[in-house]
Amino acid sequence: MSGTITPSPLRNDCFALPAGIHWTPVDEALALLRERLTPVMGREIIPVSRAMGRVLADDVVAPRANPPLPNTAVDGYGFAEGRPEGPHVLLLLDERAAAGPRLTSVVPEGHAVRILTGAALPTGVDTVVLQEDVTVAEGQIAFNGPIKAGANTRRAGEDVHKGDVILKAGRRVTVADMAILAATGADHVVVRVPLRVAVISTGDELVEAGQSAKQDQIYDANRPMLLSMITAMGHVPVDMGRCADDRAALSRVLDDATRNADVVITSGGASAGDEDHVSLLLTEAGAMQMWRIAIKPGRPLALGLWNNTPVFGLPGNPVAAMVCTLVFASPAMAQLAGAGWVAPVGYDVPAKFTKSKKAGRREYLRARMCDGQVEVFGSEGSGRISGLSWADGLVELAEDAQQINKGDLVRYVPFGSFGL
Ligand code: AMP
Ligand code: MG
Repeated sequence: MSGTITPSPLRNDCFALPAGIHWTPVDEALALLRERLTPVMGREIIPVSRAMGRVLADDVVAPRANPPLPNTAVDGYGFAEGRPEGPHVLLLLDERAAAGPRLTSVVPEGHAVRILTGAALPTGVDTVVLQEDVTVAEGQIAFNGPIKAGANTRRAGEDVHKGDVILKAGRRVTVADMAILAATGADHVVVRVPLRVAVISTGDELVEAGQSAKQDQIYDANRPMLLSMITAMGHVPVDMGRCADDRAALSRVLDDATRNADVVITSGGASAGDEDHVSLLLTEAGAMQMWRIAIKPGRPLALGLWNNTPVFGLPGNPVAAMVCTLVFASPAMAQLAGAGWVAPVGYDVPAKFTKSKKAGRREYLRARMCDGQVEVFGSEGSGRISGLSWADGLVELAEDAQQINKGDLVRYVPFGSFGL
């Protein structure tokens, strides 16, 4: 079934920004991505057993009700109708209803039957009294009312009716969803083909992690981080390795990447300097938009289409690369993958720090929760990679914020909200 629909191609100008605006606010940039990026992936049908983490392409409709039959929620004794206040005595049938095949006997008026949790209610039973509230002797049960009609039972379909939409198209299947899919008898689901995301690191100074490095070389930290983020976000990472600051080489790697992936993420060389070959190359190809976004950390992002494939040119600094991936690439990739626009969930919590900031740009600080307050990493340096591990999320400071004092409410977004 793979590729049965043709995804709508992205428009050539999908990354164009309004003319004349120098620094685009984050929300405006996000709104543009949201509006212009559409799902690019085809669909396939897979067994429910393999649905975990996949993006649903269609609504899932329950093939049957949950529970399918009325049943008992407790161990006890079942009979017909509620009973008023006062003592009650019923004759006890010499049979038992347990989970599994339904007891076919009819329970006559004035009688009760022993019934165990999960058993379908036999004909003549709509109410169950808890075994702890019952005295049993000489083929009879005695208990005190009142007990409401229907007590301790579950109605057929009280959770889900047959034909209900249990999961919506665009949802990424969670562990909890695996339970409702199974419980309602779904056997196959229609999902999106997973988005393949190529990652390229650029820079003459980079050397592969784990290899020997000269003093003037640095280890490529972005690629392992970005590939892992892509996996955590439910996409398929495609490792395109490192590329030197060389336009011809980069052009070849981009060609290769666009043959093997649906999105390309590069890091490094995305700014406007002589050695910023990602932006130079994309500009040369007429395929690039420099996004000057009013955000810290993060220098301009280079966004473009290479062979009709979207390219996210991230800054090289690992902190900026991670933040820009979370803020821009993550929702964009979700949109392309068919999962819709997913804004990360944040919380307003009291600050455990003071800070003054320039108005007019949004700032993201490495942050972590501590006793109901949020603290931020000591240094805001974009090269301080250790702060990313120290943090368990980001504090997002609004454009208009200038002075944050201890106890002020600030927006905290846990890494978990981004799927990490
Ligand atoms: P660039 O954006 O290429 O100007 O790089 C900005 C800074 O990030 C420089 O200090 C680079 O050495 C550093 N950098 C670039 N790419 C990586 C990478 N893959 N891993 C670690 N640091 C990097
Ligand atoms: Mg560089």
